[in-house]
Amino acid sequence: MPRPRLPHWSVRVRILAVILAVTAVAMTVAGGTAYLVQRDRVLHAIDDHLHAAVESARVVVTGSGGAESDRAAAAPETAGFTDARTALEAVLARVLPGPRQSAIGILDGAPTYVSALDTDFHLEDDPAFLDRVVAETADGSVRLGTAQSSVGNLRYIAIPIIVQGSDSRGLFVTAYDVDAELAVITTAFTTYAWVALTSLVGIGLVGWYVAGRLLRPIRHLTAAASHITATDLSERIPVAGNDDVSALTATVNDMLGRLDTSITTQQQLLTDVRHELKTPLTIVRGHLELVDATDADDVRATRALVIDELDRMSGLVDEIGLLADSQTSGALQRREVDVADLSEQVFSKASAISNHDWRLAETATVVASVDAGRITQAWLQLADNAAKYSPAGSLIQMGSRLRTANRVEFWVLDEGPGIPEGMEERIFERFGRVDARRGIQGSGLGLAIVAAIAQAHGGTVTLQTSPGGSRFAIDVPTAQDGTPR
Ligand code: ADP
Repeated sequence: MPRPRLPHWSVRVRILAVILAVTAVAMTVAGGTAYLVQRDRVLHAIDDHLHAAVESARVVVTGSGGAESDRAAAAPETAGFTDARTALEAVLARVLPGPRQSAIGILDGAPTYVSALDTDFHLEDDPAFLDRVVAETADGSVRLGTAQSSVGNLRYIAIPIIVQGSDSRGLFVTAYDVDAELAVITTAFTTYAWVALTSLVGIGLVGWYVAGRLLRPIRHLTAAASHITATDLSERIPVAGNDDVSALTATVNDMLGRLDTSITTQQQLLTDVRHELKTPLTIVRGHLELVDATDADDVRATRALVIDELDRMSGLVDEIGLLADSQTSGALQRREVDVADLSEQVFSKASAISNHDWRLAETATVVASVDAGRITQAWLQLADNAAKYSPAGSLIQMGSRLRTANRVEFWVLDEGPGIPEGMEERIFERFGRVDARRGIQGSGLGLAIVAAIAQAHGGTVTLQTSPGGSRFAIDVPTAQDGTPR
């Protein structure tokens, strides 16, 4: 199933969107909760005041307070009054409405008395509401309710005033304009909303700037990285500061360095190979051009020479392959190897090379995690060189030893002519030879292969040389992670 395409938002936009979304939700939840709590408190206070009005009316009419439980349920019964009218008048005169509150006295269904005080709104302005409360209290009980009236959103209480022995029915209604009561907190929270919105804009601007600043090194990194091409890997990205981004930059630089080395090595190898193959090809071509096809001896001699050159070329190609393999440390097949056993085996193979006095001088008693095949190949190459370049019958010593707690050395010591001064590094390079010494055949790849094998193991090749002999040693860690064993 194809994955849905996500919108292409930059990291900067995404960081900002998340910050703003989280802040907006937090502000809304905090503000909303506070508003609801405040609103609830106001509504409760209104109800408390309305209940208190029942109590006050009762005191006015009966001259005493009622039990807590029946405060809202039962209408005040008159004691000292002879009719509902006077009782209602007394209640209206004594139970006065507060701010944002209004009251009215209804006698026998008609609005008869309005409060003496000048109230913010007048219940008599909405006859429909009055009819409704009259109807609601027809059974003589106190009624607490909410109404959307033309004078406002009301929370009211209607208290019937009944006088025994009188036919008249009084009704005292007092109501709060809920919207006006809530206006104070509504104003406060509108202000809060504006402040929150302004803060959000502020946070957005600061966030945009800070995210941009933090991400600037990544933009530089991207620009620099896109600038660097495979053909020019020499450029490095400037590392600024000491944070995650600078660590990333340093890592990218390291990677570029490795890529650079590997590409340069490859290009160098190609140049070297082209150069090395050119000579035998020129020789072969020259001889083939000059051969006299009618002269059987000439043909035979040329054939031998061409085959010899072709053999040399194929040997060269094999060695180039070996070198390429040795340069990849991932191709190593490490396993635990008993160095003493390995030393015995390699020595017995080397000592088969004739014309020399071979001696195994020492063996290290240690187990090392190495590719035994590759170590054998490199060590034998050193032994072969020693045999090749030192006088016939001379002594060649070999040995392995623990150089430090976690490094082992495989060495070969000969009594040859040594390496001339200034050539000590050159001989380890590809095709690096000491002026085709005494006509001895060789490709100049042997020591390069040895060095590559040592490097793949995380080690080096060391050389001590004098006109009286050379000591080559492959020095590698005993464990891949370098811990002593
Ligand atoms: P090759 O032996 O094919 O020429 P190597 O890479 O094995 O290539 O050696 C490079 C050069 O180092 C040799 O040409 C030789 O001049 C020199 N060399 C190597 N080993 C010894 C040695 N044991 N004694 C003296 N010279 C050596």
